Amino acid sequence: MASQFYTDIRQVPELCESERKELERVTRKYEFKASRYYLSLIDWNDPADPLRQIVIPSLTELSPWGRLDASKESKYTVMPGLQHKYNSTALLLVSDTCACICRYCFRKRIFRADYGEKVRDLEAALGYIAAHPEINNVLLTGGDPLMLAPKKLGAIMERLRGVDHVRIIRIGTKVPAYLPSRIVDNPGFAEAIRRASTSERRVYCIVHFNHERELTDTALTALDVLLQSGAILANQTPLLRGVNDDPLVLANLFNRLSYIGVPPYYVFQCRPTLANKDFAVPVEEGYTIFEEAKSRCSGLAKRARFVMSHETGKIEVVGMTESEVFLKYLRAECDRDSSRFVVMKRNPAAYWYDDYGEPVAEQYLE
Ligand code: SF4
Repeated sequence: MASQFYTDIRQVPELCESERKELERVTRKYEFKASRYYLSLIDWNDPADPLRQIVIPSLTELSPWGRLDASKESKYTVMPGLQHKYNSTALLLVSDTCACICRYCFRKRIFRADYGEKVRDLEAALGYIAAHPEINNVLLTGGDPLMLAPKKLGAIMERLRGVDHVRIIRIGTKVPAYLPSRIVDNPGFAEAIRRASTSERRVYCIVHFNHERELTDTALTALDVLLQSGAILANQTPLLRGVNDDPLVLANLFNRLSYIGVPPYYVFQCRPTLANKDFAVPVEEGYTIFEEAKSRCSGLAKRARFVMSHETGKIEVVGMTESEVFLKYLRAECDRDSSRFVVMKRNPAAYWYDDYGEPVAEQYLE
């Protein structure tokens, strides 16, 4: 049986020979992977097709813009594959593969053998979580946890359910967008979630749709399987140049998600990660797009927050005047920054918190 994936850009039949040759240079540096299903959604007659931008490499990835670990996750890695940044939340990187590789991935180092970021000693990681009663939620991530065998994912969730203080298990996944048939055809995923999602301790699936066109009939069926299995769903997406940097496109995505029962949760400022230059939108432009999109949505569809996953915390962009931009910490690494409110002088060229320099004013919740 033919593989469901292409892992070599030279295999992609829709690209012409010269494109394949040129892009191979990029994929020698940053891995390529795409499912046949996702490639079938691309309009190959349109070089600017948003879905194409998401998975097909571009030569500008070779420009030296950005850092490999833009949010300094290494600082919060307590052992390979386990991050503990915010008091109540632990991240377990259970998989080092995805159904497709997003060209804008902020964790592209996970696909590199020389980094080896996936959890290596699951027992030790579970032991750490069990020994830290302040951890009430664990995010299973990677890579994509739904690329594990259903049995393996089920076993990890079962172990976490054995830890009394872990109330919420979150699964971060783009499989519903990249390969929804994997969920539909493997009832083991729904069974594993059904066992782990109880009325007192839910499993959340944080899905990852960037564009309305990813919400195909099969994707909707996959989302329904997850919903019926007792998972709570929410969507997060980065704001990406050429993909969803248009208020109408973003509003359509928010509205469709709200109809399906998948509330928009976070819209991320694209991290300044190495090779992501093409996708980056300045913070203030992004905030304007986000607000214009929300103005076209019902209350249920506009529940997302526009945030930066900064080294020091999750920082929400909450407002702007002609001269100032207002930021607020939603989560912070250090207690003092919790709920910290920051006023910055506007800088239309800022792509990240650090580009703003010193605050004009700030307020701490004492
Ligand atoms: S699904 Fe997530 S981890 Fe996988 S390539 Fe995309 S951004 Fe990276």
